[in-house]
Amino acid sequence: MLPKLQSSKPVERLNLSLRPRSLTEYIGCDNTKKIINIAISAVKSSGLMFGNTLLVGQRGMGKTTLAELVCKELNAQYRLVGGKAIRNVADLNSLMMSLPSNGFLIIDEVHGLRQEFTDLLHQAMDSFTYTYADIDHRVITIRTPPFSLIAATTSEGRLTAPFLSRFRRRLYLEPYTPLNLQTIVMNCAKNNNLSIDSRSAYEIAVRSNGVPRLALNNFLNVHEYSKSNGGRMDLKTTEESLALHGIDSYGLNQQQRQIIKVLDTIPLGVQNIESRTGISQESVLNFYEPYLLQIGFIERTARGRILTPAGKKYKTTMRF
Ligand code: ADP
Repeated sequence: MLPKLQSSKPVERLNLSLRPRSLTEYIGCDNTKKIINIAISAVKSSGLMFGNTLLVGQRGMGKTTLAELVCKELNAQYRLVGGKAIRNVADLNSLMMSLPSNGFLIIDEVHGLRQEFTDLLHQAMDSFTYTYADIDHRVITIRTPPFSLIAATTSEGRLTAPFLSRFRRRLYLEPYTPLNLQTIVMNCAKNNNLSIDSRSAYEIAVRSNGVPRLALNNFLNVHEYSKSNGGRMDLKTTEESLALHGIDSYGLNQQQRQIIKVLDTIPLGVQNIESRTGISQESVLNFYEPYLLQIGFIERTARGRILTPAGKKYKTTMRF
């Protein structure tokens, strides 16, 4: 059986369609989109393969969406798996042998793929074959259909140099502005025949840490809240819903405030932050810290995280 993408993507609820339907609806990331569009045109005009591409960016920034849109634009078939879903060589073999010919393999969270498998994968990226010795020391050669790999990661640094060198494009998703996120929210509303005014969509946008998935989650929560409130998605409903979910005017949530609470001028490592807040190191690193760094509330030093003057000022406004 094919390994399934281990996905906990929380936005796909209430049966709303949240994905952009075309690259034109993929908002922001202009440079990345330009490169992708050039590559798509080259494939269409010359019949060349798309080529192996690595997408790097925080969770919820649109890596999987972009990979799927490439396939859609090229009318190409694909298989989508999470790196951790490949647990043994049999999983890898059944996946690789069942790839659509001249199609795509999309691997989400590719840093979760064990190194023994990335070693085999980069052989396949070079020559559409890979070789390994089984437990009886027999040499097994697997041939795959021709494919292009689009791999997504939040942690490029965890990939090995030989694997990284096989990607001819490494694309770093650019940060989203509040205006980008406002458009994403408005488009999602339009695609689902919902109405939200632009001021409310902007309020959601500025409180979503620059991450499309958070903006859509906040939008869904506002939509849900509005149902218990006469159905109007106006600024009042938006602010009430955000407040109910513990999101303040900076877009910080309860966990981010807890992190700020335990930080000061003495540097704290992530391990220490975990033991003082109960928030796992992985969550601190992947979800909560990036935006606090981005808005300059905390700083990373060689000995750990500290609060900046702006962070300290914010802390004085917090109610404990
Ligand atoms: P990632 O794979 O980086 O974790 P996803 O591709 O799952 O992120 O995107 C999260 C959500 O945000 C999806 O519902 C997606 O449709 C939406 N989204 C992400 N980027 C964009 C974008 N540039 N334009 C429109 N919607 C986006």
